[in-house]
Amino acid sequence: MKAELIAPCGMNCNVCSNYLALINDTKAKGVKLPYCIGCRQRDKKCSFVKKKCKKLLNYKIDFCYECNEFPCELIIKLGKSYEERYHMNMVDNLGYIKEHGMEKFLKAEKKKWRCSKCGKTICCHNGICYSCDLEKMKIKKKRYRWEE
Ligand SMILES: [Zn+2]
Repeated sequence: MKAELIAPCGMNCNVCSNYLALINDTKAKGVKLPYCIGCRQRDKKCSFVKKKCKKLLNYKIDFCYECNEFPCELIIKLGKSYEERYHMNMVDNLGYIKEHGMEKFLKAEKKKWRCSKCGKTICCHNGICYSCDLEKMKIKKKRYRWEE
């Protein structure tokens, strides 16, 4: 997992559907999904946090935990909605990075999202491995939900 794929809000783009679709070239395998190189890489002005935060918009901080208002209401809300649906919370991610450093975080994430079949990365948005289990996406009704 790559450090440059950790967004300022703590989102780990390494496990995002749009990034995994790109690196696995799912279109070539018959599954059309949006492709993305990662929030930080394309300087994404996300509607969750960045558009509403002057410090992020003006590059005053690199990660939200550097802010004296961390965790602010915006990121708490974002983290909660992700925790409910996608088994992760940005606030927890950033707290971990702040306390233990990026290297340890990436190691822990690699373990957390590791596909038990092929060892590649599963997607946080649906729990599917785009490397060995992409066929599932062809019949999946809700593409951005885990099967409970
Ligand atoms: Zn796999």
